[in-house]
Amino acid sequence: MKRLGRHMKILIVEDERALSEVLTALLKQKLYSVDAVYDGISGEDYAMSGIYDAIILDVMLPGQSGVDMLRSIRAKGAATPVLLLTAKADVDDKIAGLDTGADDYLTKPFATGELLARLRAITRRKDRFVGDEMSAGNTTLDLNTHELRSGGNAVRLPAKEYQIMELLMRNSRQIIPKERFIEKIWGFDTNAEYNTIEVYISFVRKKLAAIGSDVQIKAVRGAGYSLEAPE
Ligand code: CA
Repeated sequence: MKRLGRHMKILIVEDERALSEVLTALLKQKLYSVDAVYDGISGEDYAMSGIYDAIILDVMLPGQSGVDMLRSIRAKGAATPVLLLTAKADVDDKIAGLDTGADDYLTKPFATGELLARLRAITRRKDRFVGDEMSAGNTTLDLNTHELRSGGNAVRLPAKEYQIMELLMRNSRQIIPKERFIEKIWGFDTNAEYNTIEVYISFVRKKLAAIGSDVQIKAVRGAGYSLEAPE
């Protein structure tokens, strides 16, 4: 059998050995290559190697928490997609994780099928065709690298922020209801809440401002959001 490229490489940072072993076996069966570490300090060292296509990161860890580890690797510039595992169904906990730069989260206990689906979703950008981009105002979104560019500035958007920006750019100047973001980005079978969208929109706005973009995401009270750019 001919192999068309290397296997995706996944880092698992999870201190529950039994769960880590189950996940490792599952991912290897699906032809991922896997490294597993069991605390937040080793997790950070491994993550900063830059060799992983995605990181599965538990929140409650010895050494440092998953959220602290995530904050640290993002501060050092690691853009690797991260799927956060949380034992709490607490919305605040999820928001904290997303606010820190997680691409998605799963609440324990979870079905392995759901874990695999979410892992595919956060790594999907690797399969995109090269060269496509969309523009609004002075700002360009690269559909392959997920870079948002304006002038000489660029920032790479994490998966969900990219999906939000793509949806806004494809429907520039139209009001997009919050329900549509949830359907498109989180799917129908989801416990994403409206305030989750607000959090993500705020991240995208900060990035637009940081690169000097002249496009704005306007909130239309009770209706949704629209992307506005100068003529
Ligand atoms: Ca744990």
